[in-house]
Formats: sequence, C-alpha cells, structure tokens
Amino acid sequence: MERRKFIKAAGLAGVTGAAATASVFPKPAIAQDRIEFAMVSTWPRDFPGLGTGAQRFAERLATISEGRIQVQYFSAGERVGAFDSFDEVASGNAQGYHAAEYYWKGKHPGWAFFTAVPFGLTYTEMNGWIRWGGGQELWDELAGQFGLKGLMCGNTGVQMGGWFRKEINSADDLKGLKMRIPGLGGDVMAKLGASPVSLPGGQIYENLVSGAIDATEWVGPWNDGFMKFYEAAKFYYYPGMHEPGSMLAVGLNADFWGKLSKADQMLIEAAAAAENDWMMAEYNAKSGAALKGLIADQGVQLRQFSDDIYDSFGEAAEEVFEEVRAHSDLASRIYDSFAQARTDIGAWTNISDQAYVSQRNRVLGL
Ligand code: CA
Repeated sequence: MERRKFIKAAGLAGVTGAAATASVFPKPAIAQDRIEFAMVSTWPRDFPGLGTGAQRFAERLATISEGRIQVQYFSAGERVGAFDSFDEVASGNAQGYHAAEYYWKGKHPGWAFFTAVPFGLTYTEMNGWIRWGGGQELWDELAGQFGLKGLMCGNTGVQMGGWFRKEINSADDLKGLKMRIPGLGGDVMAKLGASPVSLPGGQIYENLVSGAIDATEWVGPWNDGFMKFYEAAKFYYYPGMHEPGSMLAVGLNADFWGKLSKADQMLIEAAAAAENDWMMAEYNAKSGAALKGLIADQGVQLRQFSDDIYDSFGEAAEEVFEEVRAHSDLASRIYDSFAQARTDIGAWTNISDQAYVSQRNRVLGL
C-alpha cells in the first residue's frame, strides 16, 4: 500500500494510476499498479532470433507480471527508426529498447564492449564478465551517464566473418572494400584499408545487391541465409574476429527503472535473463543445419580466414584499443576490466571448453 500512495503522490512518468481521480473513486489495485512500458527496437518485426527474441522478451514480461506491466513493442521503423531507439529511451519518450549496444559507440566507445569487440569474449565468457567480473557495474556507470540502465537480453554466439564477392587471401584484399560492419570491428577493418559502414539489418540486402557496399557481415548462417546475402556474394568467411559472442541488451530509461519497486525490477531482470538463455540456445540449435543448407542448396563457398589475416586483424585491433583507452577514464577502465576478464576467463576456456570440444570432435570425426 505504501508504494501505491507514493505512485499517486509522485505521478510517475511511465506509470499509470488514475492518480487525479483516485481520491474520489477508489480504483481496483490492479489498475493502480499498471505500468506502461513502451519498447522500441533496432530489429525488423519477426526477424528470426534478434526480432523474435526481443518480442519473446516483451511477451514474457507481460505474462510473468500477469499483464500488470503493459508492454507495447515496436519494431524498427514502427515508432522510430532503428538507430533512433537510443534517444527515444534516453529522453523518456519510451521506457525501453532492445538493441545491440555497439550501435551507440559514436556516443562513447565504451558501448561497444557491451555487445562485442574484436578478439573479445564468447557467450559464456561474456556472461562471466558481466555477472561476476565487474562488467555490469561498468555498464551501469556508462549507461548512467546517458540516463539509461542496461540488462543482458540475448546473444548470437560467435558470428561469421562476412560475405565477400571475391576471395580474401591476404589482408591486402581488404583494401578499398566498402563493408557493412559496425562497432570496433569496423574500426579494425578501417585500419586495414577498408571502408566500414554501419547499416541496420533491414537495409543491408538492398545495399549489397545494388553494389553500394562490396561486402557485409551480419550474424551467422541461420540469420544470413534468411537475408539471402548469397545472391550477391558467395564467399562466406569464418570465424568473425569482430563479434565472438554478441550480447543483445534491453536498455531502460534510468528514471523509469529507478522508480520501479524492487520486485518489478526483478521481474524485468528475470525476463531479460531468460531471453539471454533462450536466444543463444536457438542460435546454437539452428546455425549448423542452416550452414549445411547454404552450401548444398545455394552454392555458398565456405572459407576460413588465414592465420596471416588474423595476425593483421590482431595488430589493427591493438591500435583500435589504444584509441579507445585514450578516449576517457571510463573507456580506459572498461577496456582494462574487459582485458582482465579475457585473460582470466580465457585461460580457463582454453583448458575447459576448448580442450574438451577439440578432443570430442577429433574422436568423433566432427
Ligand atoms: Ca554482426
């Protein structure tokens, strides 16, 4: 009851309560506790994995709150354009977005670390850093500067290196390529002489087919096959150095978040954590079969980036990280925390997941 009085008194943004008339006509408790939650996103409606995952989160949140949290979900372009999601939520026009935080790296390079960075963390490593390695605290500090609060809400796992019209046999072959690749991965490509561009998912195909871009990365076989990139570029490279475990996020308006009860915050956290798991499971379950289909049915040519090219990626990434660290004290602290987690968790990955999977697949001939 105390909280309801508080809501009536404060007239909170984003919280409906019929506060003006409540003193005359008592309202049912359910109506007084309703919370409006407008959520925008950077994904096309029903886009497999990213879009359906964001929509599943929205539905789950409505369901576990028994409809009390009234989630209105808007895909990219339905309320604002994909890349306007940040301002829509930071300003308080909407309460939340579902997005990849690296889309905001132009506002601060620290955002990139909360999706994926070159030579970064895999899904399990990322979860370790965010939950137990100080990642969430730094994310909160960064997001707080923009009036936002972020939560993990999905992951694609290791992404493919991208679609190219020609073979990439050395780093020199990247020179002059106009490639859709966002985040710090794009900065690495720029160091190697390519021209990176960031386009929302819904605009990549038309730009690739028209020749406005020469190459693109997106996600992996399941998503990329849906996009039909193979119609314009047959060479499909792996593994992507730029997004080894891309985390998706729910970004919440910080004022909205701060005024929620602890229980409602935990409902949102629980729904987001559930989606973090479900989305990754779906990518893992569907990517292998999708890749087989692309090769067998669409004539896709699978290629692996050579060690030499990877060495070039690594040198360029070091330059990019030096620039990130020079940006600000916070950028430097985010990088240092990330790098420490990569060292500590990565060393364990080497003798746990990597060593085991390597032996299992060798024995089974996978
Ligand atoms: Ca990507």
